[in-house]
Amino acid sequence: MDRPQGAGNEGLDATSAPPEVNLNVPSIARVYDYVLGGKEHFEIDRQVSAALFAAVPETSQLAKDNRDHLRRAVTFLVGEAGITQILDLGSGLPTEGNVHEIAHAINPDVHVVYVDIDPLVLAHGRALLENETTTTVITADVRDPDAIFDSEAVRELIDTSKPFAVIAASIFHHLADDEDPYGLADKIKARLSPGSYFLISNFLDDDEPRAKELQTAFLEGGLGTGRFRTWDEQQRLFDGLEMVEPGLVYANDWRPDAQTLTGSPTHTLYAAGIGRKA
Ligand code: SAM
Repeated sequence: MDRPQGAGNEGLDATSAPPEVNLNVPSIARVYDYVLGGKEHFEIDRQVSAALFAAVPETSQLAKDNRDHLRRAVTFLVGEAGITQILDLGSGLPTEGNVHEIAHAINPDVHVVYVDIDPLVLAHGRALLENETTTTVITADVRDPDAIFDSEAVRELIDTSKPFAVIAASIFHHLADDEDPYGLADKIKARLSPGSYFLISNFLDDDEPRAKELQTAFLEGGLGTGRFRTWDEQQRLFDGLEMVEPGLVYANDWRPDAQTLTGSPTHTLYAAGIGRKA
């Protein structure tokens, strides 16, 4: 079979799997890495990705649009808003243009704590961050924000009495409705000090058939997670915060710059915004 548009290379073979990886279960982090064109994936991840590409052949562009939004958003948070501490929830495997690299290009003193549930993220993150004193990575479940905020890593690197930013890029849509995403957002917002920011970006159900087809591919194609939410549902996650201009919009419309792909084929499938606690 031809490799889907924009997907990665052959990836890893089973013999290189660390013992904590179950080769029969796909991982969101590795599927995302494959879709972005990375190398950290196994056969099971590539099989699951095939369902996504069958539903929307431009799925790789959707992931790239998200990464480009993240780049612009972190540039805003550090460059314009003056944020010096970032908690990145569901941070993903290291890729091109990691959050700490974007932040440090503007201010090398920014502290970053990466959080992800996937064991490979910890392994690769540790290797990447070996010589970093400002940035660390921990394994934790975003559904337990108290454990994250009370962790040693966060207490050491982030002074939550001062303004900081929480990034939730491409993570809430991996929480099903019965996992109470709104309750989780409320718990995170309760931890924000005045002047802090909350970045949220998600798959968008803008009432077009492709969103429904891709959601079905995510939910029923083997991954079991990937909920496309409407504008109203996504806006609810920001309740109680003031929205940074231009508000909750298509991700590519959030302060686009020269690198942003105008006319992206996946423009209407992804929304993003940043809220600020007054
Ligand atoms: N935030 C990055 C970005 O936007 O490019 C990566 C997004 S990737 C689609 C979603 C990440 O969330 C994966 O790395 C996955 O392992 C992680 N994840 C999924 N469920 C999680 C959970 N309950 N707790 C922590 N991380 C989770």
